[in-house]
Amino acid sequence: MEYSLQEYYRAIEDNIKTVRDNIAESAIKAGRDPADVRLMVVTKTVDINRINHALAQGIDLIGENRVQELLEKNDGFVPSDVEKHLIGHLQSNKVAKILPFVSLIESADSVGICAEISKRAAAIGKTQDVLIELNIAGEESKTGLQPEMLDDLLAEMSRMSNIRVRGIMGVPPICEDEITARRYFSKLHQIFVDKSSQKSDNIRMEILSMGMSGDYAWAVAEGATEVRVGSAIFGIRRY
Ligand SMILES: *Cc1c(COP(=O)(O)O)cnc(C)c1O
Repeated sequence: MEYSLQEYYRAIEDNIKTVRDNIAESAIKAGRDPADVRLMVVTKTVDINRINHALAQGIDLIGENRVQELLEKNDGFVPSDVEKHLIGHLQSNKVAKILPFVSLIESADSVGICAEISKRAAAIGKTQDVLIELNIAGEESKTGLQPEMLDDLLAEMSRMSNIRVRGIMGVPPICEDEITARRYFSKLHQIFVDKSSQKSDNIRMEILSMGMSGDYAWAVAEGATEVRVGSAIFGIRRY
């Protein structure tokens, strides 16, 4: 069945409301304040009209996973007061392009990329906020830092002048069952809490970004402060 544009817009409104309700319900059940969980709307492959309709529902944070797509959408379309995060893998040769337009890079995962970000940020007089992406399940097919390397990376980063660590991001394997999924989220949360006590000028653990369309309620139950939701709002992506 094909939807008319009006129906599609209605669906976006309904879906955002449902996601917000689910986040609140899960937070309250876990004894958390729903206001401590921020909803990122993931807009990869979504056209600007649909994005704007989501923004009209009070969304103030969008995520893109490709540099090129983020730049295209930034080009006069998405209002400048909407925060834009990069959530996909970042290559060194794209760092300079993206820095002026991105508020947070959630996918920093190596000393090399962090050094490049700091260097390029210094060149434009910016201090770039990042999250460290952890490969929590040790999956070969995925990017992200191995958790046992985190201390080394943070030690290196404390010597970098124009980059600031704001927290941790994770993309655990998609699990059908709640127990396995929550085990990964709980591991990420544990690391987040452990590192929160570590004080350094440019490391401040405030954001724990985890949970997507299929599992965000479980991520909230395990302590996520930001969830990244795409298809539960816009429907299945067409590439
Ligand atoms: C695409 C993407 C999401 C959103 O995925 P959905 O399952 O559509 O909600 C979240 N995080 C990252 C890193 C992504 O690439």
